[in-house]
Amino acid sequence: MAIEQTFSIIKPNAMKKNAIGDIISMFEANGLKIAAAKITILSKAKAEEFYAEHKERPFFGELVSFMTSGPVALMCLQGENAVLKNREIMGATDPKKANAGTVRAKFGDNVGENAVHGSDSAASAARELALFFEKHEICNV
Ligand code: ADP
Repeated sequence: MAIEQTFSIIKPNAMKKNAIGDIISMFEANGLKIAAAKITILSKAKAEEFYAEHKERPFFGELVSFMTSGPVALMCLQGENAVLKNREIMGATDPKKANAGTVRAKFGDNVGENAVHGSDSAASAARELALFFEKHEICNV
């Protein structure tokens, strides 16, 4: 199976719960490695650019406001089948529908404040990683 890289965000609600370590442990326990990481507060412009595909959705304003409300952890995760594997570790968008034991079931509060983001395809991963990291900031782990 191919080694892939994907983009992950630990969202402000999970950061407030002091859950970075627990969430990274779940990635590592499932075979993903951290190839890049930074903690920052997203600007409104960056959050809007990141979620541009949702700009016509009714929740867009609320989503941008939530994503800029506090620190986030931005990461590149690397491993076999990393894009799909990360989506499985995260669970469904709505924490109420997420399988038990997934990050969103454990740390999500509601469909908006759902603890983590993960790229939904290899193409999205490439676009999203390029938005937040310089090439030289991502290691081949
Ligand atoms: P995912 O993050 O699982 O790929 P989407 O791409 O559909 O899900 O949505 C992007 C993000 O927008 C979600 O992670 C969540 O934070 C937010 N979101 C999605 N649906 C809703 C909703 N109905 N109400 C509020 N926020 C939402």
